[in-house]
Amino acid sequence: MSGAGAGVAAEFRELYGAGPEGVWAAPGRVNLIGEYTDFNEGFVLPLALPHTVVAAVSRRADGVLRLHSAEAGGGVVRLDVARLEPGSVQGWAAYPAGVVWALREAGHPVGGVDVHLTSTVPTGAGLSSSAALEVVTALALSDLFGLGLSRPELAVIAQAAENRFVGVPCGVMDQMASACATEGHALYLDTRDLSYRQVPFDLAAQGLRLLVVDTRVQHALGDGAYAERRAGCEAGARALGVRALRDISAVQLSDALGRLSDETVRRYVRHVVSDNERVERIIGLLDAGDARGVGPVLTEGHLSLRDDLRVSCEELDLAVASANAAGALGARMTGGGFGGSAVVLVAAEAAGVVASAVEKAFAAAGFAAPGVFVATPSVGARRVG
Ligand code: ADP
Ligand code: MG
Repeated sequence: MSGAGAGVAAEFRELYGAGPEGVWAAPGRVNLIGEYTDFNEGFVLPLALPHTVVAAVSRRADGVLRLHSAEAGGGVVRLDVARLEPGSVQGWAAYPAGVVWALREAGHPVGGVDVHLTSTVPTGAGLSSSAALEVVTALALSDLFGLGLSRPELAVIAQAAENRFVGVPCGVMDQMASACATEGHALYLDTRDLSYRQVPFDLAAQGLRLLVVDTRVQHALGDGAYAERRAGCEAGARALGVRALRDISAVQLSDALGRLSDETVRRYVRHVVSDNERVERIIGLLDAGDARGVGPVLTEGHLSLRDDLRVSCEELDLAVASANAAGALGARMTGGGFGGSAVVLVAAEAAGVVASAVEKAFAAAGFAAPGVFVATPSVGARRVG
C-alpha cells in the first residue's frame, strides 16, 4: 500500500485496533457543461478531479456501523445497521450511513462495517465532496460484501442515499462522474438512461489548462432555490406535453417558448434546452480536437445560468468576468450555483496571469480570497490498498 492509502490504513489501525481489510478512493468532480440538465433527463459533461475521499473499511460481524472522518471533528459515530432509516442520522454520517441503508433497500445483504476516511475534496465548494463520500462507501461495500455492482449501479445507490436518506434532491451526475470517470477524459453522460462515453479531454497536449476557482461562498443545494428551479422545469415539461425538457431540441425551442405563458418557466426552459445543445456542441469540438473552441461556449453557458436560470451570484460573475478580461478562453460557474466554483479554460501560458487577475479582482471587491487550482481530468473510484 502506498501514499494516501497507507496513511489512512495506519490511522484506521490506531482508531479501531486492527488494520482495515482494504482502502478505496473516490474523486470529486467539476462539470464542464450541462448544468441543471440532469434532472431534466438531459446531457452533462463532468470530469473527475485529482482530489479524493479515501476510506479504510473492514467488515464487522455484529451489525454495528462505526464511522469516523479526519475532517469532520468529533469522535466515532456508532450506529445500528438494522435501525437505519431516513431522518435517523444527522450531520456528515448520514452520507455513508445512507449508502448502507440504500444498499439494503435495494436488497443487497450488507452488514456492519468500521470506516475511517479522510479527504482532499473541498466541502461545500460545488466540487461534490458528498458524492465522493457516497461513492467511496458504495464501492468499498460492494467489494467487501461481494456484490459485484457495476459503476452506474454504484452511482444510483449513492444518489438514492443522498436523495432519500440525507434528503438532498440532487441529480445523478455527481455520483456518475465519481464512479465512472477515467483519466484524461470527460464523461459524456445521458442522464435519461445513464449511457455514457469517455471523451478525450487531454488539456496539456493542446497547451491548455482548466482552472477551478472556488469562491469560498458556501452553496446550499438543500435550500428552496434548487427545488424551485426543478419544479419550474417540471412545470415546463408538463405544459409542453413532454416527459422531460430533454425532449425539446434546440430547433424546437422558439416554438416551445411561444407556447409557454409563464415568464419564469420560459426562462428555465430556455436554459435547459440551450445547455443541452451546448453539451452537444462541446462534444463536437472535442471530437474534432478543438478544445480551444470550447471556451466561448462555456461563457455562453454562464450567461444562461446567470440571466435565465438565475443561479449565479456576484462572486461567480466576478470570477468569470475577471478571468475573461485577463485573457481566458472562456469561463462559467459550475455546479448548483449561489456560490461554489467556476471553471476557466485558459492557454497554459496565460494560466498564472488569469489566476492572479481573478485573485486581484476578488480583493478589490472586498471578497474573501478564492482558491484557484488546475483541474486535471482524473480517474474515478478505485481500490487503492
Ligand atoms: P459538495 O458536495 O459540493 O462538497 P454538499 O453540501 O453536497 O457539498 O456536501 C458537503 C457535505 O458532505 C459536508 O457538509 C459533510 O456533511 C459531507 N462531507 C464531505 N466531505 C466530508 C469529509 N471528509 N468528512 C465528513 N463529511 C464530509
Ligand atoms: Mg454535494
